[in-house]
Amino acid sequence: MNAEQKLLNELTKEPMIAYFTMEIGINSSIPTYSGGLGVLAGDTIKSGADLALPMVAVTLLTRKGYFRQELDEKGRQVEHPYEWDPAVFMTRLNPRVIVEIEGRPVQVQAWCYMVQSLTGGKVPVFFLDTKLEGNHPEDQEITAQLYGGDEVYRFKQEIVLGLGGARMLKALGFEIKKYHLNEGHASLLTLELLNKFKRPIEDVWDEKLVWDVNSVKDLCVFTTHTPVQAGHDRFPYDLVQRVLGDLIPLDILKGLAGQEALNMTVLALNLTEFVNGVAKKHGEVSRNMFPGYKINAITNGVHSYTWTCDSFRRLYDKYLPGWANEPELFVRVGRIPDIEIWEAHQEAKRTLLDYVLQQTGVEMDLNILTLGFARRATAYKRADLLFSDLERLIKIGAGKIQIIYAGKAHPQDTPGKALIEKIFSYKKQLADRINIVFLSNYDMDIALKMVSGVDVWLNTPQRPREASGTSGMKAAHNGVINFSVLDGWWIEGYIEGDTGWSIGPSPVETRLEDNSDTRDADDLYEKLEREIVPTYYEARSIWVYMMGNTIGQNAYYFNTHRMMRRYVTEAYIR
Ligand SMILES: *Cc1c(COP(=O)(O)O)cnc(C)c1O
Repeated sequence: MNAEQKLLNELTKEPMIAYFTMEIGINSSIPTYSGGLGVLAGDTIKSGADLALPMVAVTLLTRKGYFRQELDEKGRQVEHPYEWDPAVFMTRLNPRVIVEIEGRPVQVQAWCYMVQSLTGGKVPVFFLDTKLEGNHPEDQEITAQLYGGDEVYRFKQEIVLGLGGARMLKALGFEIKKYHLNEGHASLLTLELLNKFKRPIEDVWDEKLVWDVNSVKDLCVFTTHTPVQAGHDRFPYDLVQRVLGDLIPLDILKGLAGQEALNMTVLALNLTEFVNGVAKKHGEVSRNMFPGYKINAITNGVHSYTWTCDSFRRLYDKYLPGWANEPELFVRVGRIPDIEIWEAHQEAKRTLLDYVLQQTGVEMDLNILTLGFARRATAYKRADLLFSDLERLIKIGAGKIQIIYAGKAHPQDTPGKALIEKIFSYKKQLADRINIVFLSNYDMDIALKMVSGVDVWLNTPQRPREASGTSGMKAAHNGVINFSVLDGWWIEGYIEGDTGWSIGPSPVETRLEDNSDTRDADDLYEKLEREIVPTYYEARSIWVYMMGNTIGQNAYYFNTHRMMRRYVTEAYIR
């Protein structure tokens, strides 16, 4: 028996919390994530390990990852499969379980990646894999590509994740006391549990079954991340029946997952006791979207150690020892001398600008106010809002600001791709006046360089589409000031002029139609011109005071250690 197997046997002795997620971002060498959802999952598990929680995680081994992004000179995106070898990072486990897909038995095996904390805590992550000899060639590809293919492909992946995952945990000998569904992708696991809890009513002559919904609910926790209806996975029932067969009688399934189509969110809502959104506002938006359900809110965080750059790690080690496992210590940020905060920041900025030079050949200036914008390139994130009025931007920013962009568009997101091309064309138009670069292949490594190396982290989503957002929390861990639309976490994190700046109106109402690009852009320019540029160049001590506040008030709260303690007390052990 190898060391990994021994460790696993040790872990099966205690009932576990099982965290199910379609994607996970542990580090940038394991490309099984596309963006915020996956990075959150990785941060969750890392904090789980630091806090020595009895947890395991289940996800898919996407052997071609999401994709590697190449951008041509016009900003046109070319996608390449990200080939990687799981054996470098993880151990293949022996057990195989079977799920039935399109009437064929599909074998599923797991790879184990052990997240080990310096505190001694350990959380195994099981990456499910169907690329096995004996599986139909088509079925071997089910776990190939994250968010690839059509809806049939997606549904097959969700069968492997939900049903395959539940069966794998059983085969490995785990006793699970809570299943945590990170988004609706794993909802089918509730059906597996429902089947386990069905029992015949014996005194009825035509043998009826009782579907014990409450026993399933007691076992499940569901976190929803999607603040708009269209974002929830829905599958037509003819597809469901063709691919899944009759795992559960159709009339029962329709009662639980919606009459018209199988809605993965509705299924999860009906079969989990504790449901939450990922920020206070998002909880409210979700309650409006799904009336009749009790939906709580636990605001997201980021894993403090992962998202702090070298120079700030050294600074915190010096003045706030123990910070990585006790981010509450950020409350004492006032003990760090201003000059050392500034120097740590300039070091991070130099690292980023060196990377920019090496990647793009563009030389940026260490002493120019640098804005950063990086996240999935998709329409609602409005990466182009900053360019709404070029004349005005030039007037405010020529010689005074430089901008660094990054972000991948989903291969089928045509408007998202067009957005990248648009940024490229603005970059060209503004070339002699405002220096702009777009870094290709945004990943966790580039994210850390950017969130620590720019001066201001910009976020301009359409309210209320940014359920939480986490990159701004990463920036806060590095003393980088947020400048953002009041949506998601920033509604809770901002104190105007103290921890950062807001864009647009306060979010009393948050309906999609409340958005006005013109009004938001106007406010963005106004603040940039009157507050941000002058403070940066003429009031450096106020600037550094604000940097301290982002650490002491934002990083202090918006971390996954705080988030996980809340999941434990409010959801896992109730
Ligand atoms: C943190 C992170 C995200 C999420 O960014 P948001 O601005 O919160 O959407 C996306 N991609 C990567 C690589 C990240 O590290």
